Amino acid sequence: MRYAIIGTGVAGISAVEAIRGVDRSGEIVMLGDDPHGYYSRPGLAYLLTGEVQDKSLFPKTREEYAKLNFVYKKNRVLEIDRTAKTLQLDDRSLLSYDKLLIATGAFAIPLTVPGANLQGVMKLDHLEDARGILKHAKRGRTAIVVGGGITALELTEGLLARGVHVHYLLRGTRYWSNVLDEHESRIVEGRLQAEGVTLHFRSEVQEILGRSGKVIGVRLLDGRTMKCDMLAYAVGIKPRIDLAQSADLAIDRGILVNEYLQTNDPDVYAAGDVAQVYDPLTGRSVLDSLWSPAREQGYAAGLNMVGKHKPYIKTVPLNVTRLAGLTTTIIGAVGNGRDEDLVGIARGDSETWRQLPDAIVAQSGFDINRVRLLVGENHLIGAVVMGDQKLSAPLQKIIAEKINISSIRDGLLRKDAKIADVIVDFWLHHLVTS
Ligand SMILES: Cc1cc2nc3c(=O)[nH]c(=O)nc-3n(C[C@H](O)[C@H](O)[C@H](O)COP(=O)(O)OP(=O)(O)OC[C@H]3O[C@@H](n4cnc5c(N)ncnc54)[C@H](O)[C@@H]3O)c2cc1C
Repeated sequence: MRYAIIGTGVAGISAVEAIRGVDRSGEIVMLGDDPHGYYSRPGLAYLLTGEVQDKSLFPKTREEYAKLNFVYKKNRVLEIDRTAKTLQLDDRSLLSYDKLLIATGAFAIPLTVPGANLQGVMKLDHLEDARGILKHAKRGRTAIVVGGGITALELTEGLLARGVHVHYLLRGTRYWSNVLDEHESRIVEGRLQAEGVTLHFRSEVQEILGRSGKVIGVRLLDGRTMKCDMLAYAVGIKPRIDLAQSADLAIDRGILVNEYLQTNDPDVYAAGDVAQVYDPLTGRSVLDSLWSPAREQGYAAGLNMVGKHKPYIKTVPLNVTRLAGLTTTIIGAVGNGRDEDLVGIARGDSETWRQLPDAIVAQSGFDINRVRLLVGENHLIGAVVMGDQKLSAPLQKIIAEKINISSIRDGLLRKDAKIADVIVDFWLHHLVTS
């Protein structure tokens, strides 16, 4: 039996772990076109700020890889032939498979304005991108950052940490408007400004200006021009579905898979950022661009590839991240509609967050320590916890386990409710009685 896995990200490596845990003798071949193999993609943000060094991005030791006993080929897969069950590799060789996992992740949507191919126009997708940004930041003094979501902010903070002055351009009127509410956006923006970032709202790049092939500034839609030595962007990502598409697998925004991570071809699976996974609970197929779901999906796919009939149970999407230095936990559905700065999903994001829940908002705290709850009939549906994180863990449980909160619902929705106290009391009581 030969298992082939395309992609050396967390979904791919988790599948190897799952397969090897069950099948000690089957051949596993992992194929990847990133020269650095498996590393922490979220960690790239901390590499930019200087909080971690390259080597701490690599979570696995040589010995751990050896134990997994798989063949690693540094190749790009060009084509899948599902009839012959072979992969065409970029060195012209063919590799046959019995079971295949596509875990090719997602790519940063490129900027499409004139000048986007100038030197100094950068994205943050791979380790090589992060290294390129750091190299540029040594020479550059002024950067323009374009886009919304977590990655644009990570670019801003990384450049700031390297002593670069940042102009942050937003097409809309506030930061990350489809996930954060207005107050949360303003908190983040205020902190960025305090750190020295110049924010420009309703500002859209029409053209990137260059000289001798290098970026020197931008022209905005309203005719204004701005100078810069580099431009970094994060306007969203797209699942890397090209292989699946040309192999005629069922796709929508990502590769469509059932709860067993299986595509419409029973020998082909997909997991991670590339997969649009069916959730039997809601009846919807959703994209997540989050590390933990990618790991869990990869693991479940691996188990199913070896014949264990294990469904992937989609959990409530959660991200603990840092927005302008402020720890922020986003759980469940918290959405606010559309964001002009993002095309589709962003890195570290989940489509579930964007859903407009049938819920009433309860909120407290208007400085950096803030909590916003989406309160349904009997359950909490989502939460955003900024700053003080003491509520984060109980809220994760209350939301994920759909704990009935009807006893505190009125208390939460009361004007001037002390949400933190209500939740802490409820949680302690729950722990004692359950
Ligand atoms: C800067 C950044 C910040 C992030 N922040 C967060 C965060 O705060 N929280 C969070 O939960 N998530 C975050 N994420 C997202 C998280 O890293 C991803 O959800 C996760 O890495 C997805 O794993 P994956 O295995 O599906 O795909 P990937 O990690 O994208 O791996 C896919 C691999 O497949 C390879 N590949 C693609 N096509 C081919 C081909 N044809 N042949 C061979 N190889 C191929 C790619 O080169 C890549 O190595 C962040 C990501 C980035 C880049």
